[in-house]
Amino acid sequence: MSPVAADAPRVIVVGGGLAGLSAAIACADGGAAVTLLEGRPRLGGATWSFDRHGLVFDNGQHVHLRCCDAYRGFLDRLGTADKAPFRGPLAIPVLRPGGGGSAPTLSWIRRDPVPAPGHVARSLLGYRHLSVRHRLALVPAALALRFVDLDDPRLDTETFAVWLRRHGQSSAAITRLWDLITLPTTNLRANDVSLALAAKVFKTGLLTTADAADIAWSEVPLSELHVEPARRLLESLGAEVRLRSRVTELLLADPSPSRPAGVRGVAVGGEVLDAEAVVLAVPHDAAADLLPPEAGVAAPLTALGSVPIVNVHLVFDRKVMPYRLAAAVDSPVQFVFDRTAASGADPSGGAQVLAVSLSGAESEIGERPEALIERQLAGLRELFPLARQAEVVDAVVTREHEATFRGVPGSRPLRVGPATRIANLALAGTWTDTGWPATMEGAVVSGQAAADLVLASTGARRHPSPRREEVSA
Ligand SMILES: Cc1cc2nc3c(=O)[nH]c(=O)nc-3n(C[C@H](O)[C@H](O)[C@H](O)COP(=O)(O)OP(=O)(O)OC[C@H]3O[C@@H](n4cnc5c(N)ncnc54)[C@H](O)[C@@H]3O)c2cc1C
Repeated sequence: MSPVAADAPRVIVVGGGLAGLSAAIACADGGAAVTLLEGRPRLGGATWSFDRHGLVFDNGQHVHLRCCDAYRGFLDRLGTADKAPFRGPLAIPVLRPGGGGSAPTLSWIRRDPVPAPGHVARSLLGYRHLSVRHRLALVPAALALRFVDLDDPRLDTETFAVWLRRHGQSSAAITRLWDLITLPTTNLRANDVSLALAAKVFKTGLLTTADAADIAWSEVPLSELHVEPARRLLESLGAEVRLRSRVTELLLADPSPSRPAGVRGVAVGGEVLDAEAVVLAVPHDAAADLLPPEAGVAAPLTALGSVPIVNVHLVFDRKVMPYRLAAAVDSPVQFVFDRTAASGADPSGGAQVLAVSLSGAESEIGERPEALIERQLAGLRELFPLARQAEVVDAVVTREHEATFRGVPGSRPLRVGPATRIANLALAGTWTDTGWPATMEGAVVSGQAAADLVLASTGARRHPSPRREEVSA
């Protein structure tokens, strides 16, 4: 028997990325009869996996922080939070090539067991990739950033680098320390990113609560973490999931004196699907195409633009990296992750699978795979001497041309939603007005906010999902 009541409101969710999945689950939890429509032949949106020569690779390494409450709650609801454990207190080895074949320099960014912001003071003051003078200047800037008002619209009028320079930061400090965090979290360097987004990341993730930046990532492919569990959960809640169902139009009901214009359904090619409410959880470009003028979204959404991410996946015949994750400065390598177990490779077989994640990859996105692989391999060999003798058994490049929106100054007013002028139409997506950069957390926050709105428009209400205990590896 279907768990959905015969008179349940019909809600259509358009888009099966994390925003759409979380909206669909929240609507189904609220008692709605949900239909999720995804244009591609798979769910997961920007998080997906593929098989190659018996191993499973993700389209790109995804990590999240302990401060990502909504995303953790989403994993709890899927029953997969234990598959993406926290790796203990924040501890990132940061390597800098020695040059001329000599050993790299290592410095750790880690937290000490004291309250924020003192928890990172020792790492900043001991950061070997900067001179003592530049290290001493880090602390007052970090303290000033902690007191930036995230609601101040002026934050979106300048780049993070302009603010950092005003607070005594050198070019070396910006590229070797601040960009280490800014680039992977906002997909832009400090020179480009809006102060508003960078301040959100540093305040929420690093400077306010000591354990907020503890890092977690999946021990299984993203398809096992998000996609299949979400599909199973939705089906168990009586929702219908339709793939290869690209929505071509949002259909409006004729307004009458007693009823304002509302959405009455969607068109998938020639097929019309009726709904009492719709969540549009598609990327901003697709939303711009689909939104009717009645929705009142005047902002030119396509002006948000996009920034690519490239990942270079390398299978070595032996273990070359002694860390689960490492970062590099003054190197073509940015962040590198040990994906051996997650890819399904047998760790006892000796092979090691690494994923090098390149954010803000505007110069790499158009490069030939051979050139990318060669440069990353050379970079890894400078950082990890064991890689110099190792053989590369397989290598593959994944490219996401439109990985994230472009969070430059002036982007804030382009991030609209979740509400539109049409009461039963809500917007979701990592690009909407969540305050977060393009993250899994932002996607889930947006999906749940949109679900709350459409449920309210139908008279239903979302039931918050229970949290389970955190798991650490
Ligand atoms: C390589 C890479 C690495 C990343 N790393 C991280 C990370 O480490 N940490 C982190 O937090 N975030 C990371 N992100 C960002 C994060 O993955 C995204 O912000 C998030 O997954 C976006 O979710 P979304 O649902 O908003 O959008 P999407 O995932 O883009 O989903 C939108 C969906 O809508 C569908 N769609 C579009 N048009 C239609 C239509 N007309 N009809 C039906 N369906 C349609 C699309 O096919 C797509 O499936 C990364 C992204 C990439 C690409």
